[in-house]
Amino acid sequence: MKLIDADDLIEQINSTDFDTYRDYENVYDLIDSAEEVECFDFAHWVCGEYDIPHCSACGYEIMPNRIYPFCPNCGAKMESEEN
Ligand SMILES: [Zn+2]
Repeated sequence: MKLIDADDLIEQINSTDFDTYRDYENVYDLIDSAEEVECFDFAHWVCGEYDIPHCSACGYEIMPNRIYPFCPNCGAKMESEEN
């Protein structure tokens, strides 16, 4: 998995003058060339009120059936309970 800066990618897409016949390839090339970012923050899912999991770093709540390896809000990498 490659983590990228989505804000930077959107900025690049918005500032690119696309060739109308090759839009797909141009967007693919931009995504492929996007700089990889490292995730420095670690957190874990905490089961809160009504069994709704939330991020231990930022408190973002997710649906119980959608456990992500990263927090969709702050980007912290989730460590399992065994670690
Ligand atoms: Zn978070």
